[in-house]
Amino acid sequence: MEETFPSARETEKNIFGESMEVFHVAADLIGLGPRVRLELEEPDFEHIFYITTQLEDRLVPLPASETAAHAQLAPSQIVKDGLVPLLGGKMVLRPRALRDGAVHIEHGVLRVGERLYRIAPGRFARFKAYRVQHNQARGPYKGGIRFHKAVSLNLFNALAAEMTWKTAIVDIPFGGAKGGIRLDPREYSKDELEAISVRYMYRLKQLVGPNIDIPAPDVGTDGEVMAWMLRQYSDGERERHVMRGVVTGKDVRIGGSEGRLKATGQGLVHCIEEWFADHNLPLAGARFMVQGFGNVGSAAAEILVAAGARCVAVQDADGTIHDPKGIDVRRLVTYVHGNPHNLERSVRGYPDAEAISTAHFWDVDADICIPAALDRAITPSVAERLKVKLVAEGANRPTTSEADEVLAARGIGVIPDIVGNAGGVLVSYYEWLQNKRMEHWPLADVNARLARAVKANYRIICDVAANRPRLTDDHDSRPFVVGREVPVRVAAMVLALRRIEAHYMIEGFSQ
Ligand code: NAD
Repeated sequence: MEETFPSARETEKNIFGESMEVFHVAADLIGLGPRVRLELEEPDFEHIFYITTQLEDRLVPLPASETAAHAQLAPSQIVKDGLVPLLGGKMVLRPRALRDGAVHIEHGVLRVGERLYRIAPGRFARFKAYRVQHNQARGPYKGGIRFHKAVSLNLFNALAAEMTWKTAIVDIPFGGAKGGIRLDPREYSKDELEAISVRYMYRLKQLVGPNIDIPAPDVGTDGEVMAWMLRQYSDGERERHVMRGVVTGKDVRIGGSEGRLKATGQGLVHCIEEWFADHNLPLAGARFMVQGFGNVGSAAAEILVAAGARCVAVQDADGTIHDPKGIDVRRLVTYVHGNPHNLERSVRGYPDAEAISTAHFWDVDADICIPAALDRAITPSVAERLKVKLVAEGANRPTTSEADEVLAARGIGVIPDIVGNAGGVLVSYYEWLQNKRMEHWPLADVNARLARAVKANYRIICDVAANRPRLTDDHDSRPFVVGREVPVRVAAMVLALRRIEAHYMIEGFSQ
């Protein structure tokens, strides 16, 4: 049976079309050549495929109406690790639970603690998978793999194009891609996720490679998923040691880069520092709120707190917390990510802050709002309510076009996603370089390069926005300014398009 979710249909709204609005504005502004525009308007390749796998047996909570029939059933003693709790109350039943435990089964029902469960035999499942390769004018396709229940071709088209802009903005020799699988990883055991990831790479192998297309983690995936994919890609190959760069975001012990885990959050904080310096405001003491407490949100929060800022509210998919005096971010990270009982990996239930409603989050009084969850979080009504000076976009496409207009009208600053969260792909490039050279760079080197590249390119974007051609020791915005002031989001796109256009104009078209 194919995994389907009603919410997936929601994302079929034309997010790609909306995401290309700024592209067209910037393309008109710089008089982008018509053929270059055609090349960039649509992705090079849209791959949709299906992968199948065998799921493990599950324990499914017995409905209250059926429990009376099993009232006398003795509780089973199940060995540690025999059960894997999943989101929604189900559990994976490992074969060793039956082999090594004292298990009492009555008509397919067993009791664990107080609760009764029915054993649902492992079934075959089919998942819809995607890889969109948008453009490779500047280098191999590059972009994350997302495991989430609300993904679609349209969404991946938008995110793949964003990668093309982002790699150009930080000036690395990559193009843009994105892909993933429609599923909620919290509903599957690690073994199942490994089987699904390996199967995904089995299908993808002919389309990717260290010099062709290089996946990385995104929402719902991490270094472990990358390790499984690396193994599947290189297994049995004679030259497998030169293939390590087929994925980035790997564990540092198997060829990952120092600093990659926090790179996206770190890059965002560099932009925030620049924005505060530009506005003659101190970052120390500034209050921030963050939506999404995964890789990007939690890293940005930790780094901002280290810089003296104060975290006053956090929201994730399952909870929202608030403390105007400041949330202890380190403790919160441990509560969310270092706690095997926190199956949702959520801030919900965190004892040292007040729980507030989902909707109330946007009314929190703060200086910086960091959307670091999913797309289209900031709608026009949210933009009307925000009480901040700056929206610093960690997520991809978190602000709708209409909301952007509201923010501009209200004088709220924006750090656009395509520069704000480009630190991740930048350090992925450093990882890829290290893999090619078989080197391992110290953290200080990686972070120094990251800071230099993000700050220099962010300054170019600010100069383009302010129509301020400048040459300094660190950056040269003169080739990019367009002769008048433009919104910062358009300025970022101008920088990207100028750099991509150069390849078409200088190299020409093959036919
Ligand atoms: P993650 O899976 O580690 O974390 C996602 C977080 O968002 C979780 O805390 C989750 O609970 C929260 N969330 C999900 N749905 C939500 C909702 N409806 N409301 C509130 N919170 C919700 O993902 P991540 O890697 O941190 O990525 C976050 C965003 O940053 C995504 O848009 C991703 O594309 C973008 N991004 C990530 C990287 C990277 O290096 N990881 C790089 C660039 C951009």
